[in-house]
Amino acid sequence: MKPEKALIFELSRPGRIAYSLPECDVPEVDPSAVIPVGHLRSEPAALPEVYEVDVIRHYTELSRRNFGVDNGFYPLGSCTMKYNPKINEDVAKFPGFAKIHPYQPEESIQGALEMLYTLQNDLAALTGMDQVTLQPAAGAHGEWTGLMLIRAYHESRGEGRTKVIVPDSSHGTNPASATVAGFETVTLPSDARGMVDLEALRQAVGPDTAALMLTNPNTLGLFEERIEDIARIVHDAGGLLYYDGANSNAIMGIARPGDMGFDVVHLNLHKTMSTPHGGGGPGAGPVGVKSKLAPFLPKPVVGLHPDGTFYWDEDRPQSIGRVKSFYGNFGILVRAYAYIRTYGPEGLRRVSEIAVLNANYMMHRLAPYFDVPYPGVCKHEFVLSGKNLKSAYGVRTLDVAKRLLDFGYHPPTVYFPLNVEECIMIEPTETESKETLDAFIDAMIQIAGEAASDPQLVLNAPYTTAVKRLDEATAARKPVLNCSC
Ligand SMILES: *Cc1c(COP(=O)(O)O)cnc(C)c1O
Repeated sequence: MKPEKALIFELSRPGRIAYSLPECDVPEVDPSAVIPVGHLRSEPAALPEVYEVDVIRHYTELSRRNFGVDNGFYPLGSCTMKYNPKINEDVAKFPGFAKIHPYQPEESIQGALEMLYTLQNDLAALTGMDQVTLQPAAGAHGEWTGLMLIRAYHESRGEGRTKVIVPDSSHGTNPASATVAGFETVTLPSDARGMVDLEALRQAVGPDTAALMLTNPNTLGLFEERIEDIARIVHDAGGLLYYDGANSNAIMGIARPGDMGFDVVHLNLHKTMSTPHGGGGPGAGPVGVKSKLAPFLPKPVVGLHPDGTFYWDEDRPQSIGRVKSFYGNFGILVRAYAYIRTYGPEGLRRVSEIAVLNANYMMHRLAPYFDVPYPGVCKHEFVLSGKNLKSAYGVRTLDVAKRLLDFGYHPPTVYFPLNVEECIMIEPTETESKETLDAFIDAMIQIAGEAASDPQLVLNAPYTTAVKRLDEATAARKPVLNCSC
């Protein structure tokens, strides 16, 4: 067998991959012919012997202890824990996608390249940007990549701008990414309505402003009403605008960062577009830019020759370089492509409309029982404050969250954002039924009642979980990773 024949994928026509693996007759290889004799084992490795059935039972038992969207409601604000259609998992497993190798010649992966090229364009259209890189492997990685592009842009103009402005309602990764990218961060206070304080912004910008990073809708679930004014103030000072689009579940098909005046945006495909997430990965955080930043994009991007064939565009002399091995998390890109193509523009808009509707429905039903610091219309998520329960009954938001475990729910995000006392941040997503939303609301109302009638019941929760309250600070600071118990 000629090795180069083993992985040839025949293209019937562009975009269609006819997949065939010729039979392999791998020749016996004498190890000493390929490995230096000094490195060869003389005895077999002492690997542990375990029965297959015991391994299966062990991992099945562990998986049962996990909580995920597939076994219950998971209204974790800012995280978009929504149901991911299983059919997109099947698409990611198509052999033409799953069995190709990054080192294959371009002509043998035209279908995969076309998929990436189309996804680049679809995400550009969705965000109002001119070009997109699919390489970054997470939201925070996209932020860092975007900031490196901003740095390269300013440097190409001979400007060494050093400061990145970040509102106090932004996601914690924003100041972290700015710091890792070598910028100094300037925190901007929100006004009483949870919006960027325009006067404070005017004071903060100057000749050293590299960029403003904005999460919109922000982590209070509010859309920045004066977004165009914000853009103007930053641009007038010579800074660029970075849009944290991790939470695009509220705006898809309705509003575009590019139209709001933004120069760079990242998306979290693993939140919005059909990849299950949690526990630190894997993810995909594509970055879209306006054309003035396009020369700096990580290379390669996927290009299209005039003859209709696709290629890795490596000829980008001003590129910041590669930010991820090969071409990012390919399987996640396939899922996003399948998701976008299944829903289409109308369907994506509907996703956002229902996500926003669900959040507003929950906020209004819960308003009589919890403090609502920012009443009005929210986007895909909203915040409550448990300060009324704390002052009246000594029951804190953490206690409410622990009690929710007994009802079979993953608790919402708590104590974030930091500018809301006893914060509870709820994101229902569009994929939950009204029955599920109502059952969760009823549980929250019941817990508020328990806090009044029997606070000890809530303070001692949870009762139904394998472990009770953990010392989370010690667990985070001194984790026991290798337990022989
Ligand atoms: C989740 C999130 C991020 C970070 O994304 P990761 O993939 O976890 O790095 C950034 N910004 C916002 C607003 C987010 O919700």
